Amino acid sequence: MKDKRGVIMGVANDASIAWAVAEVVHKEGARLAFTYPNEAIYKRVSSLRDSLQAECPIIKCDVSEPGDIQQAFSRIKEQWGEIDFVLHAIAFSDRHQLTGRYVDTTRDNFLKTLDISCYSLTEICKEVSAIMPNGGSILALTYLGANRVIPHYNVMGVAKAALESSVRYLAADLGPQNIRVNAISSGTIRTAASSGIGDFHYIMSWNKNNSPLRRNVLPAEVGKSALYMLSDLSSAVTGDVHYVDCGYNIIGMKAVDAPDLIIND
Ligand code: NAD
Repeated sequence: MKDKRGVIMGVANDASIAWAVAEVVHKEGARLAFTYPNEAIYKRVSSLRDSLQAECPIIKCDVSEPGDIQQAFSRIKEQWGEIDFVLHAIAFSDRHQLTGRYVDTTRDNFLKTLDISCYSLTEICKEVSAIMPNGGSILALTYLGANRVIPHYNVMGVAKAALESSVRYLAADLGPQNIRVNAISSGTIRTAASSGIGDFHYIMSWNKNNSPLRRNVLPAEVGKSALYMLSDLSSAVTGDVHYVDCGYNIIGMKAVDAPDLIIND
């Protein structure tokens, strides 16, 4: 990654998966820019950036604000001219609808969840493709709830299914420019976003007891796989969803495995 330049989107604090990826690719020599959606997160991103002891631009980008994505990448273009990779580690849904039944999802929250967690990748790819003249790698984060029913994951599972499908369409569109688009499907990790999911601690302990490796994935392990996806190590890989979850996806938790979950709370 020496002298490769990339944008990390989705650091909220030092528990964020995006931060684990940033640490790994920074260690391998990459130059990084970070984005933040609001002032509270800016403060945390800026003190984490200081800990890297490197010049890293920090740029405002609330992906739900019209014009923010365009402005962010035009600032990156002004500073760097071109870039080599982007990490999209962004998701949002009303936490009150990440518990109970999917059927109760409101139209407002459905649209907001899909907009922030899925459509943003499409708009980002469009902007990024203009500043990747030599090709590059774009990586998103997804979860098994895209293709199996995971208790409480609800509309976020629908958004991740759309995100994974977007990854394939975007890979087809941008492949001729040698821009690769992939996703990592991470196992469960305790973060600000995941703490909003109902009974998350139960799902984590289920994974620990039932995944083939009998444990949960560590953030740094997602970081190592992201290094592969974001670098030339994966130069022939595009449109892929790569599972980094201790084998959890081959088992797959079902609601029936968790009879003590309160699904209708
Ligand atoms: P996190 O809370 O640290 O990161 C989520 C990020 O999304 C935050 O930085 C937040 O600021 C950002 N975000 C939300 N709304 C935004 C907006 N409008 N504009 C810009 N940014 C916005 O949690 P995380 O678990 O590290 O999540 C990162 C990604 O990993 C998400 O896509 C999540 O779905 C995915 N993921 C997480 C897990 C897990 O168990 N933690 C498992 C699989 C996939």
